[in-house]
Amino acid sequence: MLIRELLPNLAIVAIATSMWTLNRRYAIRAGEQLGNLIFGLAMTLGVLGTMAIPFEFSPGVLLDVRYSLLGIAAYFGGPLGVILPLMAAVARRAYIGGEGLWTGVPQIFAAVVGGLLVRKTFAKRTDAFAPVVALACVVTICGTAGFYIRLPATNWYQLTVTTIIPMAVMLFGATLLCGLAIVQEIKRHAATQENRIYRAVIEALPDCLNAKDREGRFIVANPATAALMGGDVANLIGKTDAHFYGREAAELFRKPELVVLSTGEAVTVEQRFLRNDGKETWLSTLKAPLYGDDGILVGVVTHNREITERKKLEQDLQASRKRLDDAIESMGDGLAMFDDEGLLAFHNRRFQELFPATADVRIPGNCMRTIVRASLERGEQAPPETDFDDVVERTADVLLKAGERSLRLLDGRTIQARTTNTSDGGSMIAFSDVTIHRESEERLRELNEKLSALAATDSLTGLTNRRAFDEALRQAVIAGRGLSLLMIDVDRFKAYNDGYGHLEGDECLRRVAERLANTFAPVRGSVVARYGGEEFTVLLPLVGVQEAQSLALMACSSVRGLGVPHDFSEKGLVTVSVGVAGSMIGSAREILTAADAGLYAAKAAGRDCARSASKDEERRHA
Ligand code: GH3
Ligand code: MG
Ligand code: MG
Repeated sequence: MLIRELLPNLAIVAIATSMWTLNRRYAIRAGEQLGNLIFGLAMTLGVLGTMAIPFEFSPGVLLDVRYSLLGIAAYFGGPLGVILPLMAAVARRAYIGGEGLWTGVPQIFAAVVGGLLVRKTFAKRTDAFAPVVALACVVTICGTAGFYIRLPATNWYQLTVTTIIPMAVMLFGATLLCGLAIVQEIKRHAATQENRIYRAVIEALPDCLNAKDREGRFIVANPATAALMGGDVANLIGKTDAHFYGREAAELFRKPELVVLSTGEAVTVEQRFLRNDGKETWLSTLKAPLYGDDGILVGVVTHNREITERKKLEQDLQASRKRLDDAIESMGDGLAMFDDEGLLAFHNRRFQELFPATADVRIPGNCMRTIVRASLERGEQAPPETDFDDVVERTADVLLKAGERSLRLLDGRTIQARTTNTSDGGSMIAFSDVTIHRESEERLRELNEKLSALAATDSLTGLTNRRAFDEALRQAVIAGRGLSLLMIDVDRFKAYNDGYGHLEGDECLRRVAERLANTFAPVRGSVVARYGGEEFTVLLPLVGVQEAQSLALMACSSVRGLGVPHDFSEKGLVTVSVGVAGSMIGSAREILTAADAGLYAAKAAGRDCARSASKDEERRHA
């Protein structure tokens, strides 16, 4: 009976709610606060509607389902949403007046406060169903409790059966249904919103994203997919890869899809294929299973990205790394790189080949000290006699510092180590076998010495030659500390040559030269030279006149003492005459002139003797 009376009320609640849900999206655009006010306005119309057609229970006691709308307004709209309905309900109730006024108004407030409390309790989870049930209970209690307070307990039974139960059913049902409708709308809106965001992201995605059914036909695809396939999205739907690519490429793409369809698991692959325009293209592809609502595998989702550029860079990098590796491996030098802690990080083959005795410890991860220690212990390099550990430490430290040093190996080889420090605090060391280099350097040095000796030596006698003697004399003159000079000439040598022959003459010269060299060998700084033909000179630095005189006589007697027969000389033996320039300070030319004058004097004096020239003789001779 009562329920039938209240049905129009229920219709108004339903109309208010559905009008609201239909137009909610416009209110949302107005922002949260204004949106709540507009929601409140809709609920106000509903409240006024229900209150306009109440069921008059008894004079002045009006029954309607305004509490449902008030609770819903409070719950979904908060204080802002409920303020208008509350004011309208109170005003309307006050305007009607009557006996039920003092039950109606408190119940209005109770429904509002109840709705707000439920809202607060569930922390505004207005998109969940459970709080709506709680709200319906609260509204039902708030909308009926007043009757019990107002009427005596004796009437309670009848009241409950005739009024409260139907009223409660109405209130509960109206609140629940309207609440659920609104929650549904909120959910639907959120889902639409989410969907729109996803769609925007997918459309804007530079990567290809698409889904195909079990037969490989496109169900959905984003614009990037269409661009890759050279068409538009609408043209793609319902077609397979075979429509766009050659058989080979289509099969290549289908293969991982079949794997996903049979295993139900996602796969990631890198695929290379030729586009229709013949361009080589690389794709990095993820294929994932696509399940329907019922959990049945309905197709495959594909996400792929073109990685042609990256792949090309990778290939280029690989190729240049290979070239670098080849170059490093084929280097004649050993190359080793140590990190900032002195640990071997990298080396080429030659590095180990250069040190066969310790090749096994020259491996990445070993530190420089271990390597040096092994090298000294195994006798690759000469081990120190004392302080072994100290030497190991110092050698390792030195090798890791920038610079160039030579390692002498006990097998006779010399290894040059050139260290440069890298920007990350490590050391790069190049080891070169410079043994041959050093040996040839040594040989070259010896050869040079020999050559310069040869250039300074007279080939017949092995004495210093004239050029070298002139240089020695020049140096002695520059020194300016006085010197004596002897000029020695073999007597009657032309006759010797004529009599015994030129070869015998040479032999004679050799013997005289040897004797003179021996005679002056003990005199410090003396230089005996073949000055030309059968003439010899002796440079006697720092030797005074007296000593020079006696040395000259010694020269005569020692040659004579050789006892070389000379049948064509009045002496019967090979003899020499000596000119002495004693303790002179002057130019080389002056000294040589003086000695020559002395020689002239000695010849004049009968040969086989020594003479110093007088100043007069010197002058004449010059
Ligand atoms: P004197 O006692 O005055 O010095 O008489 P001499 O015959 O030695 O005279 P002179 O100095 O003019 O003669 C030099 C001779 O020495 C001429 C040459 O036949 C000979 N002679 C010069 N150089 C060589 C040489 O390299 N080998 C030989 N076998 N003879 C030489
Ligand atoms: Mg001569
Ligand atoms: Mg002579």
